[in-house]
Amino acid sequence: MTSSTRPLLNRRLAEFGTTIFAEMSALAVQTGAINLGQGFPDTDGPEEVREAAVRALRDGRGNQYPPGPGVPELRTAIAAHQERRYGLSYDPDTEVLVTAGATEAIAATLLALLEPGDEVIALEPYYDSYAACIAMAGGTRVPVTLRPHEGSFRLDLDELRAAVTDRTRLLLINTPHNPTGTVLTREELTAIAELAVERDLLVVTDEVYEHLVFDEAEHLPLATFPGMRERTVTIGSAGKTFSFTGWKVGWVTAAPGLVSAVRSAKQFLTYVSSGPFQYAVAEALALPDSYFTAFREDMLAKRDLLAAGLADAGFEVFRTAGTYFITTDIRPLGESDGFAFCRALPERAGVVAIPNAVFYDHRDQGAPFVRFAFCKQTAVLEEAAKRLKALAG
Ligand SMILES: *Cc1c(COP(=O)(O)O)cnc(C)c1O
Repeated sequence: MTSSTRPLLNRRLAEFGTTIFAEMSALAVQTGAINLGQGFPDTDGPEEVREAAVRALRDGRGNQYPPGPGVPELRTAIAAHQERRYGLSYDPDTEVLVTAGATEAIAATLLALLEPGDEVIALEPYYDSYAACIAMAGGTRVPVTLRPHEGSFRLDLDELRAAVTDRTRLLLINTPHNPTGTVLTREELTAIAELAVERDLLVVTDEVYEHLVFDEAEHLPLATFPGMRERTVTIGSAGKTFSFTGWKVGWVTAAPGLVSAVRSAKQFLTYVSSGPFQYAVAEALALPDSYFTAFREDMLAKRDLLAAGLADAGFEVFRTAGTYFITTDIRPLGESDGFAFCRALPERAGVVAIPNAVFYDHRDQGAPFVRFAFCKQTAVLEEAAKRLKALAG
């Protein structure tokens, strides 16, 4: 205990209380509502991958501290995945770093690369850990807002260019984008790459939904664009791709100098993590294309099911080209405050969702938008759609 009046939580973190996910998940438990708030699957990933983890654990692989950069089998598998999918070649020894999920990759990257006062441009609405990690690193976040345009959220490239100042250190990009479901196009990524080269910026790109792109959308890693390989830190994760979000196996691929910098911060966060799971993820990354195709098709059917249910219930539904999520506009339901709407939704309809405003600095800009996750069993989504129909009443 301290008798001083000084707050215990420091100034850098004061604005980040409990995450909305904790609040909404507690509400789901309390009311028995269907939780379409937090983005985790309600079924586990492939049985053979689960078995691979059991085998590693039984064989005594990874039960003690694994090597700091990650086990060689996994680093090799990550490099092979980037090569096979995107033609990007990385040296498993100097250009790949295994982390405790993408969350630690984001934290370590920002803690390593930022000096206090550096500006970071991030696409708003943004994943909640970005703002907190930029703050922990003493950086200043500069949001560039994605806005609704013809049925999906789009980046205004002029606004992005205008946001760059002499203090800008890096661009923090996320595609496929959580929570909007936007996948940046080749033209948009080309413009981002040109800007980064012209202004000599580092780029950190969160690509954890790289395997969840739908319809005609295509995932193009920023590191494949001209001038980008040497200035881009690419972040990936097994959680979303293999439906094992509790394993917390993520990674960074980048040029040796960048990986070395990120490793310097990472070694004092967790040092290492997820020993046996690292071996299992190495096997998962080598699964045949048929796994990735079937996974995508399954999730696509879920997206369509929930999108139809939401439209039926009276929401405006934005097009989701990637991720686990659908963003809606509640104004057609006669509502305008997403927070109030989400707090009332469990009682009104027995469903939990997330107000997108929590992902904005400009909360008013995000006020009418609400996010639903569709990474759930078909029967659960059908029941949610049925319950939501009550809103159309
Ligand atoms: C889920 C998620 C993460 C965190 O990934 P973990 O591997 O579970 O740490 C990072 N970025 C985005 C955009 C996410 O949706």
